[in-house]
Amino acid sequence: MRNLKKAKTNPIDFLQQIVSSKKGDNKTRMERLHPQMIDRFREYNDKAGSNSLHTLQVQWSYDSKAKESDGYFLYIQYDNSEAKIADLRARIIDSNDGKITLTCPICGRQDATDLDHYIPRQILPEFSIHPYNLIPTCHRCNNKKGTLWLGSGNRLIFNAYYDAVTDEELFDVNVAIQDGLPVINLTLKAFDAPVKPATRIALSTIEKLELLPIFQEETNKNLKEEIMRIKVLAKRHADIDSIKGSYSDMAEEQENINDLKKILFNAIAHDPTLNKWIEQNIFLCQVNSNSENKQ
Ligand SMILES: [Zn+2]
Repeated sequence: MRNLKKAKTNPIDFLQQIVSSKKGDNKTRMERLHPQMIDRFREYNDKAGSNSLHTLQVQWSYDSKAKESDGYFLYIQYDNSEAKIADLRARIIDSNDGKITLTCPICGRQDATDLDHYIPRQILPEFSIHPYNLIPTCHRCNNKKGTLWLGSGNRLIFNAYYDAVTDEELFDVNVAIQDGLPVINLTLKAFDAPVKPATRIALSTIEKLELLPIFQEETNKNLKEEIMRIKVLAKRHADIDSIKGSYSDMAEEQENINDLKKILFNAIAHDPTLNKWIEQNIFLCQVNSNSENKQ
């Protein structure tokens, strides 16, 4: 999990632009709701900044069958403001190094093709077009999140704009040899309550969005690539200690303690099971094939 920067857009101005872009009956209705929405947007900004989004109360309720209600009208403004939302997405990308694609801040694996409504618009429909409530994520994370938001009054899911990234280790790492190949198993560490808020929300996000198998798959895919790389290095007569040293350095460079690459590089540098496997299956083979070539 990592943080994203918000678009350099004032939410009240963004709302004003959306209201101005409406026509006919939609415009009349939006203008009627506009003053209350300004208050609500201000409330969102204040509460997001003071880590109390969870205390927002329902003002307009949404019901998919009540198509005439204000709640329904506000809910569909996200779909009915396509051009403004596309502009917002471009501004978010600008704020985050201007990369054409962003990687999902939650799983870190897939492109952030979606804008997730952090507070689901089914629950607080007026924030369907609040720019700070729209966070780029991949389709899988967005889909898995659905209408998840609060549990026992606490937020359940990591907010890439506002939540701190935890500095506590989340995973236990175990290397096993399966069918002659090394496999990294990740499990969540058992924490004694109470844990830091950033750790609590990271654990809850991993559990609710079923991320552990995704992380595990990603780590093992990366492990296969690194093994190929080590084989190439071994052919060029690099020795195992210098390779372990370079993986140790690469692990150091990753700042986030729970970065999957950091975990993998550390395992290659230090895990005894993995070290033994690499030595026996890459380096000893290499020595044998070199000596065969000389004969
Ligand atoms: Zn994702």
